[in-house]
Amino acid sequence: MEPWSDFAWAVGVVEADGTIGPFGIAVMMKDRDVVVRVQEAFGVGNVTGPTTRDKMWRWKIANLEGMYSLVRKIMPYLSHRRLVQADRLIQRYELSKTPVPMICVQCECYFERLRRSGTQKYCTPKCRSRAFKERRNDLLVA
Ligand SMILES: [Zn+2]
Repeated sequence: MEPWSDFAWAVGVVEADGTIGPFGIAVMMKDRDVVVRVQEAFGVGNVTGPTTRDKMWRWKIANLEGMYSLVRKIMPYLSHRRLVQADRLIQRYELSKTPVPMICVQCECYFERLRRSGTQKYCTPKCRSRAFKERRNDLLVA
């Protein structure tokens, strides 16, 4: 079988039985061989299972870079409903690459942080540890 046809087959499995969510692309089913073949065809993600309750095997990719690159490859094959899900995933990826302007709560300098770094309030780890040290000293004095 041509390698591309294995790839197209795997996209079909995702289309019919998979999940394309903002936090991962996954296929879950009782047939381990199918799930492993999906992983081999895509060359990414991990297979885990079986689950204790319903004995399901799962292939999943949750790494943002990996999901983005895979979703770009499978998009031409997807139905409208799946395309909407894929588009959401791409938007989330692009948002994670958009820097957010910030003011360091310790030294008050301007810096930019990526959205994916969540609640970062300090420009550098140095400022962060300085702030923690000062807070500890304050507690000791009080
Ligand atoms: Zn700072």
